[in-house]
Amino acid sequence: MTGLMDGKRGLIMGLANDKSIAWGIAKAVAAEGAELCFSYQGEQLLKRVTPLAQQLGSDFMVECDVSSEESMDALFAEIEKKWGKLDFVVHAIGFSDKNELRGRYVDTSRANFKMSMDISVYSFTAACQRAVGMMPDGGSLLTLTYYGAEKVMPNYHVQGLCKAALESSVRYIAEDVGKDGIRCNAISAGPIKTLAASGIGDFRYILKWNEYNAPLRRTVTIEDVGKSALYLLSDLGSGVTGEVLHVDSGYHVVGMKAIDAPDM
Ligand code: NAD
Repeated sequence: MTGLMDGKRGLIMGLANDKSIAWGIAKAVAAEGAELCFSYQGEQLLKRVTPLAQQLGSDFMVECDVSSEESMDALFAEIEKKWGKLDFVVHAIGFSDKNELRGRYVDTSRANFKMSMDISVYSFTAACQRAVGMMPDGGSLLTLTYYGAEKVMPNYHVQGLCKAALESSVRYIAEDVGKDGIRCNAISAGPIKTLAASGIGDFRYILKWNEYNAPLRRTVTIEDVGKSALYLLSDLGSGVTGEVLHVDSGYHVVGMKAIDAPDM
C-alpha cells in the first residue's frame, strides 16, 4: 500500500504521547502520505508532542482545550489560515475525574457528569461543526469509543454513558453531513494501556480478561487501531458512514468466558 492519503490534510486531536491511540492513527495515515496538524492540551504536553509530530514531518501544532469555545475557534481559524481546507479529523479525546472511575456509577457527581459529557462527547460535535465548512471536497470525521457504551464494564461508569452518547452523535452527524460527501464514524477500540486508560480502576485486570477471552486471544495495539482508522479515513471506506467499527480482537461478540481462559 502506498499513497492512499496523498494530498490529504487532517487534524489529529488527542495526542499525548507515543502510547496514545492518536499516535497509532497518525503513524498509519502519515505513512500513506497524509499531512497532519496536531492539537494538544496544554503547554506541558508540547514537549512530548513536538518530537512525535516532527517524526511524521509535521511542525503544525496548535494548543487547544476542547472545553473552551474560544480555544476551539482559535484552532480551526489557525487551520483555515494555514491550509484553507481540511480532509479529515480524528478526535481521540476523553476525560473524567479518575476518583469516579472506581466505586459505583450511581455515585457520580453532577459536576463530573457535566464535565465528562462536555469534554468526551460535545467536543466531537464542536469539532465537526467547525470542520465541515472546511471540507468542500467531502471528508471523513472519526472518533474513538469503547464497548462500555454497550455493556457494563468494571469502573467505566460515567464514561460508558459518554461513549453511548458519542456513538449516537456519530449517527446524527453522519446524517447531517452525508449530503456534502462527508462521512462520520467511530472506532470502538479494545482496551489499550494509555494515559487515559490508567485512570480506570483495575485496568490491568480488564486488559488480561480481554486477552484471555477475545477470539484473537490478544489485546489490540495502537497500530491495529491505526490500520482500521486508515480504512475509515481514506477512500477505502468511501461507502461507510454512521458506523461504529469494533477493533477489539472480536471481544464484543463473546457471550461468556472462554473454555481455555485461565482463572483470574
Ligand atoms: P490518551 O491519554 O493518550 O489520550 C487522551 C487525550 O485526551 C489526551 O491527549 C488528552 O490531552 C486529551 N484531552 C483530555 N481532556 C482534554 C481537553 N479538555 N482538551 C483537549 N484535549 C483533552 O488516551 P487514549 O486511550 O489514546 O484515548 C484516546 C481516546 O480513545 C479516548 O476517547 C478514549 O476514551 C478512547 N478509547 C481508549 C481506549 C483504551 O483502552 N485506551 C479504548 C477505547 C477507546
